[in-house]
Amino acid sequence: MRQTSLVVVANRLPVDDTVAPDGACEWRRSPGGLVSALHPILHHTPATWVGWAGGTGPAPSLPEVDGVRLHTVALSADDVRDHYEGFANATLWPLYHDAVEQPVYHRRWWESYQRVNQRFAEATAEIAEPGAVVWVQDYHLQLVPGMLRELRPDLLIGFFLHVPFPPPELFMQLPRRAELLLGMLGADLVGFQRAQAAHNFAQLCAKVLNVPATDRRIAVEDRVVRIGAFPVSIDMAEMEQLARRPDVVARAQQFRADLGEPQHMILSVDRLDYIKGIEHRLKAYSELLADGHVKMSDTVMVQVAVPSRERVGQYRVLRDRVEREVGRINGEFGRVGEPAIHYLNQPFGRAELAALYRAADVMVVTPLRDGMNLVAKEYVAARVDNTGALVLSEFAGAAAELTQAYLVNPHDLDGLKLTLMHAKEAAPGDVSARMGAMREHLRGHDIQAWARSYLSALDHTGSLAARLR
Ligand code: UDP
Repeated sequence: MRQTSLVVVANRLPVDDTVAPDGACEWRRSPGGLVSALHPILHHTPATWVGWAGGTGPAPSLPEVDGVRLHTVALSADDVRDHYEGFANATLWPLYHDAVEQPVYHRRWWESYQRVNQRFAEATAEIAEPGAVVWVQDYHLQLVPGMLRELRPDLLIGFFLHVPFPPPELFMQLPRRAELLLGMLGADLVGFQRAQAAHNFAQLCAKVLNVPATDRRIAVEDRVVRIGAFPVSIDMAEMEQLARRPDVVARAQQFRADLGEPQHMILSVDRLDYIKGIEHRLKAYSELLADGHVKMSDTVMVQVAVPSRERVGQYRVLRDRVEREVGRINGEFGRVGEPAIHYLNQPFGRAELAALYRAADVMVVTPLRDGMNLVAKEYVAARVDNTGALVLSEFAGAAAELTQAYLVNPHDLDGLKLTLMHAKEAAPGDVSARMGAMREHLRGHDIQAWARSYLSALDHTGSLAARLR
């Protein structure tokens, strides 16, 4: 029997172009995430990945990466500005994250979003074998399932949204709300991170499209679309292995030595994004320093803030605000050679990140809203000796699973300060009981389990999911 083939459709291909030592351009598999989740299935299945390679020139012709065929969709500079930076990241992104920044609406962005989605749908229709399973990813491509169904009704189509799906009060703002819902309903199965998101989606379909909808099924014309929650996860085994590597352990010790062997090292790692709650956290930390509850003689704070979406205005403004505040705190509380906050506006590789996770005894992850937050799960995976306290926002998807974290409402400044102190001063027994429980949970809910559960729900025959065992 021929194996079902699989097509993954995502805004980005799972590759980065890097510069080899001889100066030539080299394409490498990008670390982490979806590609490692699907690695086993991609290996044992005739699979193709459709996506954008980054850049605005003609589509580069890319080789296979780890046995996966790559099919490139080219984007022009206008597409990147209007589809990616515009509709995806300045309209949908803020709207889907509680509108913590004001979503911006432009008709030109919507037109570009439609055009780019159509191009992805056409590219997929062209290469998918008859009866193939197609798995479309995330908010950049919400119209693709509907467009693809028009072109290729023979395909089994899945859609997964990695970000939150907002409540009706917010989604109703969108000028083209009905089209977006109908686009997603082109799928056979629509997956979300949390049950609340599936509920919001069902409510909206009933209200905007006037179709029968429950939190599990939506009837559209002659079809039933299934919906559900499939919380995404991390490659637990890979992170544990990394965290145990002798060079990573040595690097973690080096970090602590470089920081002056503090009693407590507090760490935060975020993309520099307004959803991550960086400013709230800085304010809480600065008040703890001012109150004298945190003393620089025994505590250091490291904030990694990875540059992100710097061509989008709101992100440039945020960076200025964050850096001004870090400067203020260091100016007020720092000493020569001893900043109050070690601020790093640069990306870290996997091994460096694992070493930072191992070095930090308190990890503070306090987004105002986040679909999942993989950093929180990675920290737990890296704490192979069951030490380390995780302070986690209630508004991160991860909080629904990591219930043993020190949970906090990041808008409540006093609560944030108290929880930080509680985590920092907690008894080792309490810390390790909590960490042990979270590690146990992640062992049974890693990224392989996520891919298996989604694909077995999508494909009733079970043939794809069986290849992930
Ligand atoms: N990450 C990284 N280098 C860094 C900081 C983060 O590779 O310097 C990775 C991190 O390990 C995680 C991902 O970026 O896998 C961030 O995912 P998360 O869900 O926490 O947030 P997002 O950036 O997707 O909003």
